[in-house]
Amino acid sequence: MPNRKFIPYSRQSVDSDDLKAVNSVLHSDWLTQGPKVSEFENRLSSYCNAQYAVAVSSGTAALHIACLAAGIEPCNEVITSPLTFVASANCVLYCGARPVFADIQQDSANIEPVNIKKNINRKTKALIPVHFAGHPCDLGEINKIRKKHNLIVIEDATHALGADYVGAKIGSCKYSDMSVFSFHPVKPITTGEGGAVLTNRKDLYERLLLLRSHGITKERRKFSVKNTKSIGVWFYEMQELGFNYRITDFQCALGISQLKKLDRFIKRRREIVEKYRKLFLDNDYFDLPIEGKGVKSSWHLYPIRLKNKYISKKSLIFDELRKNRIGVQVHYIPVYWHPYYRKLGYKKGLCPKAEEFYQREISIPLHQGMSDKDIKYTVRIIFDVFNKIKSC
Ligand SMILES: *Cc1c(COP(=O)(O)O)cnc(C)c1O
Repeated sequence: MPNRKFIPYSRQSVDSDDLKAVNSVLHSDWLTQGPKVSEFENRLSSYCNAQYAVAVSSGTAALHIACLAAGIEPCNEVITSPLTFVASANCVLYCGARPVFADIQQDSANIEPVNIKKNINRKTKALIPVHFAGHPCDLGEINKIRKKHNLIVIEDATHALGADYVGAKIGSCKYSDMSVFSFHPVKPITTGEGGAVLTNRKDLYERLLLLRSHGITKERRKFSVKNTKSIGVWFYEMQELGFNYRITDFQCALGISQLKKLDRFIKRRREIVEKYRKLFLDNDYFDLPIEGKGVKSSWHLYPIRLKNKYISKKSLIFDELRKNRIGVQVHYIPVYWHPYYRKLGYKKGLCPKAEEFYQREISIPLHQGMSDKDIKYTVRIIFDVFNKIKSC
């Protein structure tokens, strides 16, 4: 079937309502810094049940300013997961600080609280747990560690918009100081590129606003100049070294329109997960992802884990699936395996569970745009490929 469409591991769903929303902003007076940015922020924070949201140009930018707002400095260490996209650790390097990798739990692939504790010392300033594949981390335990050691917790929730931890929406910051989202096209909703930081702390919120836009404020009550009566309306102050991490109004219009559909997207993902569960039940080739008690995953990814016999054949399996138009991917190469991190002194073997997970993992297609036919095809090809490999 050479012309069969490619089924990616994840992708955006953009419909005519999204196009209308973007189109109307493109015809308005504001392409950036207009009313849609704060509308998007308000809708995000109320969806997640947090006080404040700051929308920015990417999830990476969101992580960067979250780390700066947290006060992470060159002498600090920040504990994060090794099994994540490099951005979760790079944001620590941007601040001149040192990322410390704490090994994961084998089933959820989330950071293991016991391993966080083992890595805490007096330099530790913050934790960046990552809700891998949209499955919430053990936030209750992480919060206990946070309180005991007086640490800042920044949730890397870039996979997890719409997920739920014992009744609290991820992003509510009930167990943390800040939560970071990404709106890259493969993530739960998209703005093209985009991200956000959510928080319940006013002090962090105000710093995030400054950092997003050059460290400049136009609010008179915040000026360092005492006699504000004598200053003109054009006046503004740059109070710290910020960035241009702004997001545009038309991206936020897309975000608003997408957010309205998020629950529907997740409902469809859950239907697919249930179909996969039934169809792959008790198979001899791989283990399925889990959903822990009391949590609801946003199912950003569907990570299968190869059983022992198939680990050495992963490349072959991957190639065969891709040849058959199944857009599998691997999440993730342990961050510290990358040459840049190796040069900083991190060694292979540091987090054996993350390394093992990486050897076993393949993400198979899971997104709201998949039809029942796509699902059937995906499952059939996966069984065909494994049956073939088994005998070779
Ligand atoms: C996508 C992603 C990011 C970065 O988000 P961008 O919007 O692409 O900058 C950070 N962390 C994780 C775990 C991600 O998957």
